[in-house]
Amino acid sequence: MAIHNCEGESVTIENKAVYMDNSATTPVRKEVVEAMLPYMTENFGNPSSIYEIGKTSKHAIDRARKKAADALGAEENEIYFTSGGTESDNWAIKGIAFANQNKGKHIITSSIEHHAVLHTCAWLEGQGFEVTYLPVDKYGMVSPDELRKAIRDDTILISIMFANNEIGTIQPVKEIGKIAKENQIYFHTDAVQAIGHVPIDVKKLNIDLLSLSGHKFEGPKGCGVLYIRKGVKIESLLHGGAQERKRRAGTENVPGIVGLGKAIELATAEIEESNRTLLKLRERLIKELLKIPKTHLNGHPTQRLANNVNVTFEYIEGESLLLLLNAKGIFASTGSACNSTSLEPSHVLTACGVPHEIIHGSLRLSLGRMNTSEDVDRVLEVVPEIVQKLRNMSPLTPKEYRTL
Ligand code: PLP
Repeated sequence: MAIHNCEGESVTIENKAVYMDNSATTPVRKEVVEAMLPYMTENFGNPSSIYEIGKTSKHAIDRARKKAADALGAEENEIYFTSGGTESDNWAIKGIAFANQNKGKHIITSSIEHHAVLHTCAWLEGQGFEVTYLPVDKYGMVSPDELRKAIRDDTILISIMFANNEIGTIQPVKEIGKIAKENQIYFHTDAVQAIGHVPIDVKKLNIDLLSLSGHKFEGPKGCGVLYIRKGVKIESLLHGGAQERKRRAGTENVPGIVGLGKAIELATAEIEESNRTLLKLRERLIKELLKIPKTHLNGHPTQRLANNVNVTFEYIEGESLLLLLNAKGIFASTGSACNSTSLEPSHVLTACGVPHEIIHGSLRLSLGRMNTSEDVDRVLEVVPEIVQKLRNMSPLTPKEYRTL
């Protein structure tokens, strides 16, 4: 992998770089880049224009919409292209809240959602809505019984993610969908991390709204999907032109949409094959990392995404671990405080009951199609060494876990 710093200079890293942060983002797949390129060059027309190059763009969007619909078991007119997961989550939750407030102002979500859901719910609380944040068990699993108990006469929406971005836990979505349907409550799921790893059929799972983001499945950044079941009553967020059947204004990101279409087609066709490979890599990583003393697995042992490894090492700081891994050309992430975007320790690990001092030593390795068993070898060679080095430096490490 060629690495460049923020000035665009290439950076020399000993050994081959290992990228294991695919839940943060993925490289855009070659076939996807190739599909997108013509829509940034000769086929640059505005899809709303009636002349030929406009129509070419419009047809390309139609084809991408069909691919996204097929990937979800949806109909084409239930697919809306957005700017990504954040917009899709905002639209689903605010859109349902404002269109259905005559029925009630109560929303149910979980305490481990992505901030795109949690901060949207918090904002709605400021607008007079009430939100119940369901707890999770130590594996990050929502309980269908707790959900049933939380339902009230004025509940208008249940928003529970398909799979968690930090710990990979896959929720009992089918059961949640069934409960929502029995109680005539809309069910939204953030499937940003699940697509391409778990087969999804929105009709069989009783999902009314579902969010996706292109850059998590080897598609482009800045492009996403909101699936809205036909008949769902929802307000628009963006007003202006008549794009997306008058529900989401703004000139379409044609290359992005084309890329997302290609990426979702490939990712969903290859789920079985890709999971077979990823599971082997994941299981070896987990088995070997857990051999490091005072190391714990976060998330569910089996109901988890095939690409997710999340462990905590006691007595160390995740940020120091990441920096030392970075120096060795290994790119990963942590739920520690002071990670690149937050000053708070992971709300997900906190909700799972992981003590704060241990959360600081968490490491997420998220695998992708590009990872090989050599990458796993490299991680398993480097991580134990660095963990030991940091433990030797920490005043908190008991004597028996030091080597110096
Ligand atoms: N939801 C989940 C579960 C995510 O992991 C992410 C991104 O990390 C998002 C939503 C936001 O997606 P986007 O980056 O496309 O705005």
